Amino acid sequence: MPDHAGRIARLREALPAAGVGALIVGAPTNLRYLTGYAGSNGLLVVGPDDAWFLTDSRYAEAVEPLRAFLQVDAAQRYLLPAVAPRLLELGGGAGRIGFEADWLTVSQHDALLADAPAGVALVPTTGLVSGLRVVKEPGEIAAIRAACAPLEAIYAELAAGGLVGATEADRAWLVETRLREAGMAGTSFPPIVAGGPHGALPHAEPRGVAIAAGTLVVVDIGARDGDGYCSDCTRTLATGPLPDGARDDYALVARAQQAGLDAIRPGAVAGAIDAAARAVIADAGAGELFGHSLGHGVGMDIHEGPILRADNDEVLRAGMVVSVEPGVYRPGRWGVRIEDLVVVTDDGCEILTGFTKALVGI
Ligand code: ZN
Ligand code: ZN
Repeated sequence: MPDHAGRIARLREALPAAGVGALIVGAPTNLRYLTGYAGSNGLLVVGPDDAWFLTDSRYAEAVEPLRAFLQVDAAQRYLLPAVAPRLLELGGGAGRIGFEADWLTVSQHDALLADAPAGVALVPTTGLVSGLRVVKEPGEIAAIRAACAPLEAIYAELAAGGLVGATEADRAWLVETRLREAGMAGTSFPPIVAGGPHGALPHAEPRGVAIAAGTLVVVDIGARDGDGYCSDCTRTLATGPLPDGARDDYALVARAQQAGLDAIRPGAVAGAIDAAARAVIADAGAGELFGHSLGHGVGMDIHEGPILRADNDEVLRAGMVVSVEPGVYRPGRWGVRIEDLVVVTDDGCEILTGFTKALVGI
């Protein structure tokens, strides 16, 4: 079991620097990280001395374990209105109450303020909980590693002749089936299986169209485990002898991906890692064919911090988990993307997605 009380204690320690006496947490993934609660109607208020959790009667039994480290009120239906009159008390008398700017809607904010006692100021905050989540605990890394494990056999099955003549949608369903058979709760995002020219769309949706022989197929897949932890991996597979240039594009993306991996270590700046991979593709004259950022953090959200993109000056730390996924997308012809999920170690990174990056299927 994760140390939820410890996570909440670390959040509490971060409140003074954020200029707030208490924080209202409602973003579902943050709630799950801090408490283990995975329902649809929960609210956590972390104050200077204590923390309160509100939900409705549907979850009364599920939140029993939370009583070990939280004050739980499972008899509420409308949570923000229930919290509003108590905000001074919940904040330990301090009037400055933080909320998650990425979660609370404008109308919820206005209603909360209207119902709050005089003297309460609502303060927008960002990154307080995600700042804790960004460096993974050993148990979290183990969960992400386990969510990566089933992907290898799926790629092996697809590469061993399971593509030509099948539709993209059928292969995407096979991926979902295999993940469930492997004991995963499901996918971390809808699988991408995109053959030939369709692979030139980085976020292609699988179609009911048969995959052709003699082309490249982008297969971007990920699992989600029962505790919410995600994996993410892309391989580009060949379906027989390739047209001119496709092998060159594959080799180029593979070199760029290795350059990105080589740049990852504690202390490296996110933007510099993106630049290291992007330079390889730009130097080959294909810079305009790689439009998206190099990678993103993965944890309980499939896309979370740190983002490996040019304008991010965030510094990597050991225990962060990021994807490294350059691509080259030639409209009307094919796409290539190679993506690994890695954990930042003390002196570099460890790859969690083990399937070969040699071009297979020819
Ligand atoms: Zn992916
Ligand atoms: Zn990704």
